[in-house]
Amino acid sequence: QQKIDMQTVWQQDKDHYIHPWTDFSTFKETGSMVLADSDNVHVKDGDGREYLDGIGGLWCVNIGYAREEMAEAIADQIRQIPYYSSFGHHTTVPAAKLAAKLAELAPGNLNHVFYGCGGSVANDTAVRIIHFYFNQLGQKTKKKIISRIDGYHGSTYMAMSITGVKFDHIGFDIDEQLVHHISCPNPYRRPEGQSLEDFCDEKVQELEDKILELGADNVAAFFAEPIMGAGGVIVQPDGYHKKILAVCRKYGVLYVSDEVVTAFGRLGHMFASEDEFGIVPDIITCAKGLTSGYLPLGATILSSDIYDVISKPQADGAIFTHGYTYSGHPVSCAAGVKNIEIMERENLCGHVQEMGAYFEQQLKTLSDLQIVGDVRGRKFMMCIENVANKDTKELISPEAKVGNRIADHCQARGLIVRPLAHMNVLSPPLTLTREHVDFMVATLRES
Ligand code: PLP
Repeated sequence: QQKIDMQTVWQQDKDHYIHPWTDFSTFKETGSMVLADSDNVHVKDGDGREYLDGIGGLWCVNIGYAREEMAEAIADQIRQIPYYSSFGHHTTVPAAKLAAKLAELAPGNLNHVFYGCGGSVANDTAVRIIHFYFNQLGQKTKKKIISRIDGYHGSTYMAMSITGVKFDHIGFDIDEQLVHHISCPNPYRRPEGQSLEDFCDEKVQELEDKILELGADNVAAFFAEPIMGAGGVIVQPDGYHKKILAVCRKYGVLYVSDEVVTAFGRLGHMFASEDEFGIVPDIITCAKGLTSGYLPLGATILSSDIYDVISKPQADGAIFTHGYTYSGHPVSCAAGVKNIEIMERENLCGHVQEMGAYFEQQLKTLSDLQIVGDVRGRKFMMCIENVANKDTKELISPEAKVGNRIADHCQARGLIVRPLAHMNVLSPPLTLTREHVDFMVATLRES
């Protein structure tokens, strides 16, 4: 690791770098942790201290850090052709190859791929495609989007409107004409004594009621993550997605599965919609694990039914006027191709099936701690919800900053976990071993 002039970095960072999702009022006092080096599941700070990265960067470094083959694949592509636009009739080898691979891996007839730079943009693209699709079908009033409280779909204007985490909306505006939210299907917070099945049916009914309230002719799509991530790793009751999809089908509402976190192995499958939850949605959006975070890339994967409508000659002369300078960026796509090749060669999904089950089981042993109300999630997408009272599930006051304090204690012991209000989230690289799991669980217990 190169020697870093930390004082200079801190000063530049403090004075000029606007960090995303950051409380500027405290940021200047505490300063930043400078990440300077990495290897597999570990990162190092500017002083050379090593940490096990329990959150895989931001749910994304799926194949682990600093893979030489990734560096080679990226460098090779830069040497060959580092950029070309794919507007109109140009393409590049990795953009085409990755699209074909995604079509092969995605469920059902989701065979057509549109590229952007990340998850938010993938969701924005989905909305534009859906609106174009219904316009071309002559169903011009079908425009509204329904999503869920505590769902997270990104930070661009539209994606943030679809996001239902109320905290994220404070101080900003969202598009309340276009986007409507139904409640969060959080089993842990369901009414005392209600069965999971009744709870599930109630939430599904809520979607149907909302569609009827808005008018099925006005509702275009429903957006959901297979497991809610940033809203607190909420695993819906069994059968929820299938029942929700049936309601969508009944009213001609498209189902968009936001797999920005869940795709590419986090739950032990390349895509979780079908393999974990038994549904084939109309659109899947993905990003993060698509390149394991090595380079920015997102994708919106459409069914052939949608593609057939938007790609035919249109009566009004419209063509698909949507795209970004960096759509299908060849270097990002080359990273995506290599990333999936590594995942397949090393059978990382199989590893997650096995090691993820162990991780889940070991984390659940923390449930005996007085502060731990719920340990939930699946495989390498987990969350610990800390509470003031385990019986009443009463929340700890936000001023106590319990999630942050636990994360700080973990960091002091060489483990990075993510604070999320009163919770802590874990989404490690998929290469985690049994020893790493044991270290994480022991460190969390002490912290
Ligand atoms: N969708 C989900 C489920 C996410 O978790 C995220 C980011 O965490 C996004 C969308 C937004 O992705 P990005 O930050 O790449 O724009």
